[in-house]
Amino acid sequence: MQFYPFTIPSFVNSLFPNLEWRIKNPVGRQIFLTFDDGPQPEVTQWVLKTLKEHNALGTFFMVGENIIKRPEIMQEVKAAGHAIGNHTHRHNSGYSSKLSDYIMEVKECQKYTQTNLFRPPYGRIRTNQIKALKDDYQIIMWNQLSGDFDQNLNRKKSLASLCKNAKPGNIVVFHDSMKAFENIKEILPPFLAYLQKEEFICSPLPCDEYLVD
Ligand SMILES: [Zn+2]
Repeated sequence: MQFYPFTIPSFVNSLFPNLEWRIKNPVGRQIFLTFDDGPQPEVTQWVLKTLKEHNALGTFFMVGENIIKRPEIMQEVKAAGHAIGNHTHRHNSGYSSKLSDYIMEVKECQKYTQTNLFRPPYGRIRTNQIKALKDDYQIIMWNQLSGDFDQNLNRKKSLASLCKNAKPGNIVVFHDSMKAFENIKEILPPFLAYLQKEEFICSPLPCDEYLVD
């Protein structure tokens, strides 16, 4: 059974004003594809190749520990023109972390990611954590979910929903992980082809460099 929604309704924006569920002022038909949990050698490189084939750019929310294992892949992602975001050092859940520990994990990852984009793992973040991070980071959620992490995903349904609900300004989540690889291989290429046909511009999320000591 599918227990998560493919789309997030827009009223959620007003419930969490410090979180970004979509980009409110896209330029033209910009849409924002995001890839979480990498870098992951085989998967990240496949995603890079596939995006390039469709003339698309995106944003990669990376986990500090994974960057340490394969720093050259992060460099490759950056060099291709994609944006990089912080996804904590060890994929920490905000719900089960003390504030000080959570901030430390974000800071540790930040040594490598160095932009002002942050996405909480699992989308789980507490109010006090938001408060502590919101002045330094854009906290990026999503309003379209591919469900690619789901081992029982109905890929046809996922792709149909992605295409039907694609709108300028939307933020779409995919995963840059082994667990999602079989799904993303099936879903991403036809979705990118659809976006091209509909003249969307797949763009990296706007971001600034942000260095921590
Ligand atoms: Zn994640």
